[in-house]
Amino acid sequence: MDGSGKQSSSPGGSGRKRALKQRLESLASSGVSSLPKRRTGKTPPIATGGRRGSATSPAADLGARIRSLDVLRDEVAACRLCEPLAKARTHTVFGVGSATARLCFLGEAPGADEDASGEPFVGRAGQLLTKIIEACTLSREEVYILNVLKCRPPENRRPLPDETASCRGYFEKQLEIIAPEFICCLGTTAAQALLQTDETIGALRKRWFSWGTAQVLCTYHPSYLLRNPPAKREVWDDMKLLMSKMGVLV
Ligand code: URA
Repeated sequence: MDGSGKQSSSPGGSGRKRALKQRLESLASSGVSSLPKRRTGKTPPIATGGRRGSATSPAADLGARIRSLDVLRDEVAACRLCEPLAKARTHTVFGVGSATARLCFLGEAPGADEDASGEPFVGRAGQLLTKIIEACTLSREEVYILNVLKCRPPENRRPLPDETASCRGYFEKQLEIIAPEFICCLGTTAAQALLQTDETIGALRKRWFSWGTAQVLCTYHPSYLLRNPPAKREVWDDMKLLMSKMGVLV
């Protein structure tokens, strides 16, 4: 298989089939149970399957990134830096999606549903985020979703500065491994934590920032949209801006 997803009938075909089989087995052993459908329009694929500009093959690069994330996931699962949160948690909530995603969504912290399941954004706010992603013609499998905090704060309160500081090494390392081209910060906590600023989400929207090689756009958190549905229009404006920069047709 080449970068376009087309199957090759050239002489190296059986080697490629073997490599594809190995890649699928490696994905399956990492818990990936389905792959996004091949995209048919003019929109470029969102997950490239290879580190952009890297000399390694896309499959080797994908495998290396999945392994690095797995090592970090285990580290997070054993973390007790914030003892009260560690004591209260059912699961740490690491992240979900493609290890080669062009776009990462960064949220605040797990809620009750996420703590119970171990997956970010699966409750009401998560279902709204999924709808937003799908409205952008993307899927949860081809982007990557993570939070600043990996443990649920009591009563879903905002993360404390020392909790954010304890988790900084984890969410930053996650983003370094995935090396997305774009990061979308969902809400004040994510935006302020990533960009290390005190500016409000209102002041941070509609502006482009850099984080490493990634371009960053901030928008309202889906939980805010549940409380204030008219703001959905503004989030959709933000998503159109983001998709246009990414070359994704919406
Ligand atoms: N809110 C977040 O910020 N993250 C989740 O995972 C769920 C709700």
